[in-house]
Amino acid sequence: MNVNCTYCGNPAGCMSSKEWYGRDYGSNIYYCRPCDAYVGTHKGSFTPLGTLANKELRALRSKAHAVIDPYWRRMGYNRKTVYRLLGEYMGTAPNDTHIGMFNNEQCQKVIDGFQAFMKKPVKTG
Ligand SMILES: [Zn+2]
Repeated sequence: MNVNCTYCGNPAGCMSSKEWYGRDYGSNIYYCRPCDAYVGTHKGSFTPLGTLANKELRALRSKAHAVIDPYWRRMGYNRKTVYRLLGEYMGTAPNDTHIGMFNNEQCQKVIDGFQAFMKKPVKTG
């Protein structure tokens, strides 16, 4: 697949998780070295999970996941429902409602307000 870097627009390189991490997860990594940006794929796939992310965006995406995932992982929500509500909150189309697609501002919006939108705080622990 042809994937371009989010930041510089140059074509991203691609290597296996084994080459990238030194461990074989069966997935692949698209990367741009000059921008320190990358994104993985599902196991056995060459379709990126989203757009390439630099260090700052990777940290924001992981925080956004920490806000969203508990709702379907351990608070009894259906995963689809959580993402439908997330799309409502973000004003994004279903195909664009993935943390892997979100930019810095969108991740920040999730972190800042999604729990309040859900009217149900995330249980800790
Ligand atoms: Zn780049």
